Amino acid sequence: MTDPEERCFDPEALLIEAKKAGANAYVPYSSFPVGAAILFDDGSVVSGCNVENGSYGLSICAERNAMAAAVNEGHLKPVAIAVVGGRQGEICPPCGACRQFLSEFNSNLSIVLEDKGKPIVYSLRELLPLQFKFSGKGETKNGR
Ligand SMILES: [Zn+2]
Repeated sequence: MTDPEERCFDPEALLIEAKKAGANAYVPYSSFPVGAAILFDDGSVVSGCNVENGSYGLSICAERNAMAAAVNEGHLKPVAIAVVGGRQGEICPPCGACRQFLSEFNSNLSIVLEDKGKPIVYSLRELLPLQFKFSGKGETKNGR
């Protein structure tokens, strides 16, 4: 398989998949639908939408929803994610929680956003520098 960071992809095609997913968003409270589509190293695409809940803190973003579904299908090496949502024509970058969540799987994931109808591609390292990485189960100062 190709190194996830080197795989070429079509940003516009990935945005189309994200838009399809956004059409399924469950957003009765915010009316802010978001769709995400993740391309994996084997060419698979897994998408997700945001799902709100009356207990607001339980709501989940499209990006994490898509990545969790992908893990369930055995996909662990994302190459790129496209995210679209909110008002038409406005850029919809992933929230901080999703950036950290996605960094678990590819610290330099390509992030495709739509700005006035055109794809723009960032890297996760640009949008989330100095990422947290769990350093293992070694002994800690407090002895736990
Ligand atoms: Zn998020």
